[in-house]
Amino acid sequence: MRIINTPGEMETWAKDQALSAKTIGLVPTMGFFHEGHLQLMRNALRMADSVVVSLFVNPMQFGPQEDFEAYPRDFERDCRLAENEGVAAIFAPEGTAMYPEDFQTTVSMGKLAGRLCGASRPGHFDGVATVLTKLFNLTRADLAVFGEKDFQQLAVIRRMAVDLNMPIRIIGHPVVRESDGLAMSSRNTYLDEQERRTALCLYESLMFAREEAAAGNPDIEELTENIRRQILSYPGTGIDYISFVDDRRLEPAEQIDAHTRLLLAVWINNKVRLIDNCQVLAQEDAA
Ligand code: AMP
Repeated sequence: MRIINTPGEMETWAKDQALSAKTIGLVPTMGFFHEGHLQLMRNALRMADSVVVSLFVNPMQFGPQEDFEAYPRDFERDCRLAENEGVAAIFAPEGTAMYPEDFQTTVSMGKLAGRLCGASRPGHFDGVATVLTKLFNLTRADLAVFGEKDFQQLAVIRRMAVDLNMPIRIIGHPVVRESDGLAMSSRNTYLDEQERRTALCLYESLMFAREEAAAGNPDIEELTENIRRQILSYPGTGIDYISFVDDRRLEPAEQIDAHTRLLLAVWINNKVRLIDNCQVLAQEDAA
């Protein structure tokens, strides 16, 4: 597996793949891999000849009070795991190589990026869109795989790729969970034992909404209120949002149908902000 540290080397590698008529799959990450990341890599490996995983904790998508410095990192372990999966290259540039001193161009996303996570993390999705534009250009990827765990991010990237005519396929991959239902996340390492138990309130709320919808209780306001109470009954929880949305534009859903998704963002002890989501109607219920 090649370890690539500079944008210049990345471009050269990508050109070489193209010369050998190989398609390129990209898996953008911030590292500290868990099974969710590995599944994205496997998904990309099924669809592309050469897979490159970018490993970059992107300062532009973190707010000033956020956890950029504290974000967990373990480069050696990440390289071993990616290599085991059959990844062809890791791209791990320095921050200064991606954003040199005179850097001044950003991608500015519209209203899709202002809601939900964008409302509590101003500028976050512009940072995400900017770094991904750079990664798409540098890697010349034919396709890129993203997790549905970050459902709004996936929607924002799909929008950007369409709006800016980017020649890349954006592939979504289902949320990968621990055996008790907690969505995997590098940030789960911030949780102590008690907080780890509390974190299950997200998955429980998703399951509750699915059960209620399957049982024919589709009142969104009532469901939202019940979920709010359920989450707040756990110690140290704070709600950022509980939102039933249409999965195409992420606008508030008026009724529950095959396109309805429940998106949650919950603070645990004012320390860790966790997100999760699911489709509300199981496929067979939606049919
Ligand atoms: P991150 O390193 O957290 O920025 O995530 C890199 C990619 O992995 C993003 O596309 C995430 O949506 C995806 N991802 C992270 N956690 C999960 C998960 N539990 N299930 C599926 N995809 C995930």
